[in-house]
Amino acid sequence: MAKTKNMKTEGGHCAFCGCSSDEVGFLIVGETASICDECTERAYEIVQENRQGHFAPFRVDQEKIKKPVEIKQFLDQYVIGQDEAKKYLSVAVYNHYKRLAQKDSRDEVEIEKSNIVMVGRTGTGKTLLARTIAKMLHVPFTIVDATVLTEAGYVGEDIESILTRLLQAADYDVAAAEKGIVFIDEIDKIARKGDNPSITRDVSGEGVQQGLLKLLEGSIVNVPPQGGRKHPEQKMIPVNTKDILFVCGGAFDGIEQKIAQRLNTQVVGFNASKSAERVDRNNLLQYIAPQDLKAFGLIPEIIGRMPVLTYLEPLDRTALRAILTEPKNAITRQYVKLFALDKIQLSFDEEVFEYIVDKAIEFKLGARGLRSICEVIMTDLMFEVPSQTCKAVTITKDYAAGKLEKVSALKLRA
Ligand code: ADP
Repeated sequence: MAKTKNMKTEGGHCAFCGCSSDEVGFLIVGETASICDECTERAYEIVQENRQGHFAPFRVDQEKIKKPVEIKQFLDQYVIGQDEAKKYLSVAVYNHYKRLAQKDSRDEVEIEKSNIVMVGRTGTGKTLLARTIAKMLHVPFTIVDATVLTEAGYVGEDIESILTRLLQAADYDVAAAEKGIVFIDEIDKIARKGDNPSITRDVSGEGVQQGLLKLLEGSIVNVPPQGGRKHPEQKMIPVNTKDILFVCGGAFDGIEQKIAQRLNTQVVGFNASKSAERVDRNNLLQYIAPQDLKAFGLIPEIIGRMPVLTYLEPLDRTALRAILTEPKNAITRQYVKLFALDKIQLSFDEEVFEYIVDKAIEFKLGARGLRSICEVIMTDLMFEVPSQTCKAVTITKDYAAGKLEKVSALKLRA
């Protein structure tokens, strides 16, 4: 780029529009050419439009948008099981694109957006699903944690900070952010505690839900571009949330009780014997319904704004075993790659995998525990082997057990 020497108010011409300096505000004078203020502004707009094009390929090339089945196949490469949630998520994302594309059509039928709630025990893959789908999205995407949100004026983050993140993900391209997708993790943490609305102020509960409702419903929200309250001087950016898709996830600990209560009442009612037979008490989440979220403490307006409700299965032994080796970036594959970078061939005896899964179940660590167990087994090797001359290492069950026995179960984190 030519080095800008100075700004000139008289003499010279704009190399783009040909106007002389007295026909425009001022000229920016470069080494070999000048540009006027108006052309600079237009050039900036063109850059912005092009960036939007980058985030909105559905306008450019709708062919590129993957169909729900393909989206699910992509998720299958990284996430084990959870077919139901994957299906809902794939459809929601696909419809999101279609909804955005329909803006250009003159049709009177307006497709409404379908925000989603995913309910599932911690460590069953909710965040993983969100992160994985983000890899293939053509719109800005961000993950935020609902636990940090509080009502304006309290310690914590304002609701608007959710949109700050999205703006950042969109490189401050407002039009792109307005078509983005937000994953709100731990949505259950802003549930009202207890069924009765509290008389005292509920800093982390209903107030936050009311704030969130504003975003879900679709409104123009003034967003602090830097986020937080540390920069009171920052100029707010208005963001319209009408077309932003919200995907929420939460463990909703104890919601099984609410589901059971509801099912029991239904069982007493008509058709009792039939439904009683079918209820699988070990996996009550599969029966989750909007009224259970209400009983848990979400306000009905919020529930109404998240019409798609799906659940994640608890992970059984087979799932844990698969998680260890099957996903594209499975933990054990990551170790193999790490060692390969040092030109060492790493392999695991088959029974090591069974052993790791046994321990994860024994210590009730779930899928997250698989990694901490592997770390315990692998750390010494990762420390020593790079300085040694060996070319291949095989992890045996005895070796794994030897390492793990030295560690207290309390040290293993889920
Ligand atoms: P959640 O958000 O439901 O609490 P995460 O998605 O953060 O759980 O899962 C924690 C970790 O456990 C993930 O990073 C992943 O390594 C593993 N994991 C959990 N569920 C699955 C799954 N269904 N398939 C593959 N890996 C999984």
